[in-house]
Amino acid sequence: MARDYYEVLELDKGASKEEVEKAYRKLALKYHPDRNKDDPKAGEKFTEITQAYEVLSDDTRREQYDQYGFAADEDGNGMHQYQMHHMDLNDALNMFMHSFGGGFGSIFGNGDDGMFSRRRPIAGDDRSLHIAITLEEAFSGVEKEIESGRLARCSDCKGSGSEDGKPPVECPDCGGAGQRRMVRRLGPVQYVTTTACNRCGGEGSIIKDKCRKCRGAMRVRESVRKSITIPAGVEAGNRLRIADLGDAGLKGGPSGDLYLIIDVKDHRFYERYGDDIKCEITITYPQAVLGTKVGVDTLHGPVELKVPSGTTSHTVLRLKGRGMPHLRNPHRFGHQFVKVKIDVPKGPSMKERSLLKKLRDVQGENRKFKA
Ligand SMILES: [Zn+2]
Ligand SMILES: [Zn+2]
Repeated sequence: MARDYYEVLELDKGASKEEVEKAYRKLALKYHPDRNKDDPKAGEKFTEITQAYEVLSDDTRREQYDQYGFAADEDGNGMHQYQMHHMDLNDALNMFMHSFGGGFGSIFGNGDDGMFSRRRPIAGDDRSLHIAITLEEAFSGVEKEIESGRLARCSDCKGSGSEDGKPPVECPDCGGAGQRRMVRRLGPVQYVTTTACNRCGGEGSIIKDKCRKCRGAMRVRESVRKSITIPAGVEAGNRLRIADLGDAGLKGGPSGDLYLIIDVKDHRFYERYGDDIKCEITITYPQAVLGTKVGVDTLHGPVELKVPSGTTSHTVLRLKGRGMPHLRNPHRFGHQFVKVKIDVPKGPSMKERSLLKKLRDVQGENRKFKA
């Protein structure tokens, strides 16, 4: 529920116009969101104060509010209900600027009106770009040439948007306010709405002679090529920030950044789990029973893996330190885990058949059913 407007501005019912003005200035400055960045409620409070001021500083609306208040609805007398215009923080900030005129910058002691002015600098947007690399490239790190689109400052008008380099002039439609107030009357009720000025889009100023290259937009599309070093150990989904390669800012605002999003292509032999690598090898039945040494590929190069005698199928053996480098410490490596599978050949040769039969007969002697 809305609080009483007089209560919000800490005023008596009979307060004069000057007192309303003074109370608003005092409270609005105290609760301005730019000065209360740590207080999430400040914006709400600021809007409430500004809304109360909007009504009490306007004779007609104040009179209606005095007469009907908010409670009219509860009497069932909808006809004479005071129509509350719901204000959001943006409206409140506009109202604040409007009522303080051009001089409010100095109130905050920052010398110019950049902080709350519509001419305040606007930061450029960030951009993102996906880049696919191989697992080998992720292992060793790689240098890649990237190409990215962005909005860059127009070089013809140096970002001013005007052909002759002249600064923007006050918008003739709204007189520089950037907004238009529309007052509509319906019976005893007056509706006031504020909308952004169509001509200047809320800027309060217009460029008379627009730059031919950017058509007054101050920025133009461009494509940038740049060589980027991708560090060893990157994983799919990692984002690399490339400072200032996003869109250029407006009115002196800073550029956005470019985020390079890493995709790592699947590998035919290796599977990656963080810094570890998994792979599979196949050995023969005699190798499994007797034990053996086999050559295994790793990202570090081929190594010899000792398979102990009596190894069963799906046993996992570890090659210590043969995995991926750690992104933040490239001298530390994960491991490579090797799953050993035993090959059961489908078409053994004549010689193999006769040897296997002999083996079967030997084993058959030893392995009678014990049930
Ligand atoms: Zn305008
Ligand atoms: Zn231009």
